[in-house]
Amino acid sequence: ESLTVAELAKKLHREPSELVKKLFMLGTMATVNQELDKDGIELICADYGVEVEEEILIDSTDLETYFDEEQNEADQIERPSVVTIMGHVDHGKTTLLDSIRKTKVTEGEAGGITQHIGAYQVEVNDKKITFLDTPGHAAFTTMRARGAKVTDITILVVAADDGVMPQTVEAINHAKAAEVPIIIAVNKMDKPSANPDRVMQELTEHGLVPEAWGGDTIFVPVSALNGEGIDNLLEMILLVGEVEEYKANPKRRALGTVIEAELDKGRGSVATLLVQDGTLNVGDPIVVGYTFGRVRAMVNDLGRRVKSAGPSTPVEITGLNDVPQAGDRFVVFEDEKTARSIGETRAQQALQAQRGEKTRVSLDNLFEQMKQGEMKDLNVIVKGDVQGSVEAVAASLLKISVEGVNIKIIHTAVGAITESDVTLAAASNAIVIGFNVRPDANAKRAADAEQVDVRLHRIIYKVIEEIESAMEGLLDPEF
Ligand code: GDP
Repeated sequence: ESLTVAELAKKLHREPSELVKKLFMLGTMATVNQELDKDGIELICADYGVEVEEEILIDSTDLETYFDEEQNEADQIERPSVVTIMGHVDHGKTTLLDSIRKTKVTEGEAGGITQHIGAYQVEVNDKKITFLDTPGHAAFTTMRARGAKVTDITILVVAADDGVMPQTVEAINHAKAAEVPIIIAVNKMDKPSANPDRVMQELTEHGLVPEAWGGDTIFVPVSALNGEGIDNLLEMILLVGEVEEYKANPKRRALGTVIEAELDKGRGSVATLLVQDGTLNVGDPIVVGYTFGRVRAMVNDLGRRVKSAGPSTPVEITGLNDVPQAGDRFVVFEDEKTARSIGETRAQQALQAQRGEKTRVSLDNLFEQMKQGEMKDLNVIVKGDVQGSVEAVAASLLKISVEGVNIKIIHTAVGAITESDVTLAAASNAIVIGFNVRPDANAKRAADAEQVDVRLHRIIYKVIEEIESAMEGLLDPEF
């Protein structure tokens, strides 16, 4: 562990020049960019009367390191696709989720009443599909920001009477950033004012070209309200699933992600888990994020008690010692002793390190990350006051050429910087550039919490200059 003088100054809430002076008094000539080793750091901290605590960086993905048991290819079998529904507000996401559930879940399940556990499964042509029940890209990207990749396929709902709207574009960019295939559900086809051609035309501008026009994006006209086209939509999901060949090994210990969790008065900690690999059994010793326990009871999406759950199955479990968060990963262990000791250590570390803290890309550390070979793409989100300026900034950014790193623009839009932009940036390790716009209050708070680098500018060449300098390691540290 080492820090530069400037970094240490920031942590101590002092001016870097003050530290340089102090070092000089202690007999060392240093610059603000000089690296201090452990001894140097301790020396200064001692002088300020501050105790040095080593920072432990953990994030819940590191749980997976406990999962690297031998894999047998032959045990890999097809698993259901996991689908998230996204789209602009009022375009029919909730209605679509409800209507899929109504038409399919109860088939063959006499009187089966669906229970809201955050996800559900339907059966189509003897195959299952898993739907995440929280529509929208906020939940999707929050999970991704926490290190979980849950969704296999995105259904983008676009109302045929309204066309592509700002949140449609946001959803497209969130899905693209996650590299998840997109199927378009052109909804509200029952309306006389429905104009599917316009939807296709507008989506083409975002790189989603229908097969009929020579592209490879699947468009399905539907009416979430009267059920028309839904069977077709489900078949298309199966088709994409077959092409992508999602697989898992039901014979191994389970691994997956928390979909939602809460504290229930009677039952204690209740968590909906999506099993992503392996099979989860009642009685399994388990570590979930920073909590642990033994699976006491398991309930499926029909409210029935089950003893085991295979890949892509959502189940609600009890038996954890604390409430985990959506997006936390879980892993089953062979014995309870190990699960307990790892769970307890993680809980302690989490307390110390304040959960989720990670190094995000910023223009200040960009060059370092590039040097260490950690960065190949610099992901950028551009927000601006008018379409013309957004396009101009994006175009100029793409012209920057510095060896070793590519600029990748993952989202552009007109308007203030929002919380959704910041979440996308956090999930995609991106920086946000605001051109003649500022972050709103929520975005500001989120950017602080997630340590997302937000840069505000009014002149294009300043944007370019700043990024170029950062890429070349010439940026003066900011204080
Ligand atoms: P969400 O905000 O995307 O979840 O949208 P909702 O599912 O809440 O739907 C918004 C409104 O559009 C509601 O009044 C729905 O009844 C209506 N709606 C949704 N799907 C359809 C459809 O296929 N046809 C018609 N005519 N209305 C729909």
